[in-house]
Amino acid sequence: MTFAPGSIGGVVMTHPERLIWPSLGITKLELARYIGEVGEWMLPQLANRPLTLLRCPQGAEAKCFYQRHPGIGAGAGALGTFKGERSRKGETLYVNSIPALISLVQNGAVEMHTWGVTLPDARHPDRITLDLDPDPELPWEKLRAATVLTQALVDGLKLRSFLKTTGGKGLHVVIPLVPRLGWDGVREFSRLAAETLAKARPDLFTAKMAKQQRAGKLFVDYLRNADAASAVAAYSPRARPGATVSTPLAWEELDKSDLRTKFAVRSVPRRLAQLRHDPWRDYFTTRQSITATMRRALGAQ
Ligand code: ATP
Ligand code: MN
Repeated sequence: MTFAPGSIGGVVMTHPERLIWPSLGITKLELARYIGEVGEWMLPQLANRPLTLLRCPQGAEAKCFYQRHPGIGAGAGALGTFKGERSRKGETLYVNSIPALISLVQNGAVEMHTWGVTLPDARHPDRITLDLDPDPELPWEKLRAATVLTQALVDGLKLRSFLKTTGGKGLHVVIPLVPRLGWDGVREFSRLAAETLAKARPDLFTAKMAKQQRAGKLFVDYLRNADAASAVAAYSPRARPGATVSTPLAWEELDKSDLRTKFAVRSVPRRLAQLRHDPWRDYFTTRQSITATMRRALGAQ
């Protein structure tokens, strides 16, 4: 997608040689190329969603900060902005093209996080992210067992879910929805799912967010499923050691070794080229909603 020297996907890169992961020698240009390479996979997971960006002006190994209302101005014509009803602090960014995605990198973004809605309807979530947050000391086998149980619970409700690495210590179980329920209903559903797991397997799960309660356990962070809360987008790089990437997995891959930090900026394009089929190929044809029966099955009053 290079159209001119120093440009990726038509986006002119300033300081292309700037090191984003100095310990790996990954430059801003390489990061932009990565986004160009995975763009066809990444964009559908992120297009037209309000974004929260993690910007790292001094690189991903230095201090970074989250921004919901980035002052990205000149030269970023391909970026859209959205003014939420409840947002008093200004406009939120969204993108709907690969060049716009690349221009986020040009503007210092390393991580792209999305809200659980697709514009213009910011009131009805079309995605739940169950964020499985383990005690960092939790052995992989226990995280795997907990993830299998989470999938089984969701599957038992006749909802399809999709697995991804976060590029960090946990995993995300993502449930696509036809946007129908409001945030209150979706958050209640997520909370009930987390509590059901904690009740069934108190040895593995805690329903309490407090870090002390997490020792040897896993917290299903349902709080992500709220208005203006975000979760890292599939295929987004992480500003973490190894330039890891939040990577969609097939459920069968959970049976393999610990893949949490295996996939990174330098390996995901190869993985995608070698895959026989998209592990999330059914994501966009899955049409499902949370019903009253499902909520009752989880103990809703
Ligand atoms: P891990 O598997 O390591 O938990 P993760 O992607 O779930 O990886 P967390 O460290 O649990 O990451 O949390 C980061 C998440 O919280 C991001 O997904 C981001 O959307 C959100 N987040 C955290 N802090 C902020 C903040 N200050 N402003 C906006 N969003 C934030
Ligand atoms: Mn997490």
